Amino acid sequence: MLNDRYLRQSAVTGFENLAQNLSDKRVGIVGLGGLGGLCAYLLVGAGLKNLKLCDFDEVSLSNLHRQVMYDQTSLGLSKAQVLKQRLLNLDESVKVELFPKFEEHNAALFNENLDLILDLTDKVQVRELISDKALSSKVPLIEASVSNTRGQIALFNYKEQNFVKEHGCFRCLAKNMGHMTSPGILGPVASAMASLVALYVMQYFQGQIEAGKIRFIDFLNFKSTEVVLRPDLTCTCQKESS
Ligand SMILES: [Zn+2]
Repeated sequence: MLNDRYLRQSAVTGFENLAQNLSDKRVGIVGLGGLGGLCAYLLVGAGLKNLKLCDFDEVSLSNLHRQVMYDQTSLGLSKAQVLKQRLLNLDESVKVELFPKFEEHNAALFNENLDLILDLTDKVQVRELISDKALSSKVPLIEASVSNTRGQIALFNYKEQNFVKEHGCFRCLAKNMGHMTSPGILGPVASAMASLVALYVMQYFQGQIEAGKIRFIDFLNFKSTEVVLRPDLTCTCQKESS
């Protein structure tokens, strides 16, 4: 159902039906910081109507330089609650379900009926748990992170039968490449990466993204490289898939 809201978006070649396509998709976002907040906003703006949001954190002063969905009036408030209200202000028909924390006991409930999970958190143990649960629920997973002036993004299509055998899981990637650990981050880099994740999601639902690759982006130098993901043969995912 297209209307004036999506007029300019539907004029873009390859995205004519994007809003309609997004309208029946269900996306879960874990981590509502600099990446998750803006990404959710852009996706709802583009026509996404069903979201599950997960974050236990409250807005603090040190968040404000990069987490553009929050401001001084949000200090001390739940990020999930503030973001939900921002999304409803943008489109009152959007349905948003909130989860305080992604844990072993509620992972299955979070993953239920999802078409895609976005892991935009920054803690390794949480990321591994999200990936394990996405894999066992067979829900495609986008992993993205940002650090200093660089970002990275990868799509693990756990729904595809041979994906894990060919490309491995997030644990394989973590073993092969390590994690981005620097605490520094620039506001525009976080927002640029959030936009890139939103675009990636749109392209995924339009059938324009090939899974099993990781893209590295150096925002300062406008450089980007892509590497095919390969499994770590010692990883548990390889035993389960063989
Ligand atoms: Zn693995």
